[in-house]
Amino acid sequence: MMKAIFLDKNGTLTDDIPYHTGLRSITLCSGAGAALRLLARLDYRLFVVSNEDGIGPGTGRGAGPGIVPESAIEQVRDRVGDLLFREQVQLDGFYFCPHQPDGAAPAYTSSCTCRKPQPGMLLQAASEHAIDLGQSWMIGDALHDVEAGNRAGCRSLLVDNGNETDWRLGPYRVPASIVPDLYAAALVIANADGVRP
Ligand SMILES: [Zn+2]
Repeated sequence: MMKAIFLDKNGTLTDDIPYHTGLRSITLCSGAGAALRLLARLDYRLFVVSNEDGIGPGTGRGAGPGIVPESAIEQVRDRVGDLLFREQVQLDGFYFCPHQPDGAAPAYTSSCTCRKPQPGMLLQAASEHAIDLGQSWMIGDALHDVEAGNRAGCRSLLVDNGNETDWRLGPYRVPASIVPDLYAAALVIANADGVRP
């Protein structure tokens, strides 16, 4: 069984920018490369788990209203992969929820179990990659990330970068720690593992 780090993308791994500015404007958060190299050295597999609601309908072909075209998400995935490759970091998987519950088409809003705060993406990754969720962590900048991680049986860290504005608390929405950025999250995990980085 492997242990894993599940990463929110927007605001946690990549800087939070509007999608319409284009793929090339997607950049890694400061310190993200060093953080993920450290976590990989600690034997964690790295997975992105992302709610892709930033891409509006109509930006790709073949998508109905209210669902994000997967071709657009795959371009984002490839861009993130390229950026991480330059940082000598390899992702083991990139999971996304393309559904838009608040989108125009109710047909797409009812049957989704993958959208955070639901743990569907983490559970899918765990079954596909033989991951021990109890030895794994979710890192994100929203309490929805924390809830998804905790519901999956992981420990969760909240990156407090100002993106969470709702602070709706609940039994699954309490992080193990609150950290300023991804590198600080990696240090918390190293410390919990008894490793001095
Ligand atoms: Zn979904």
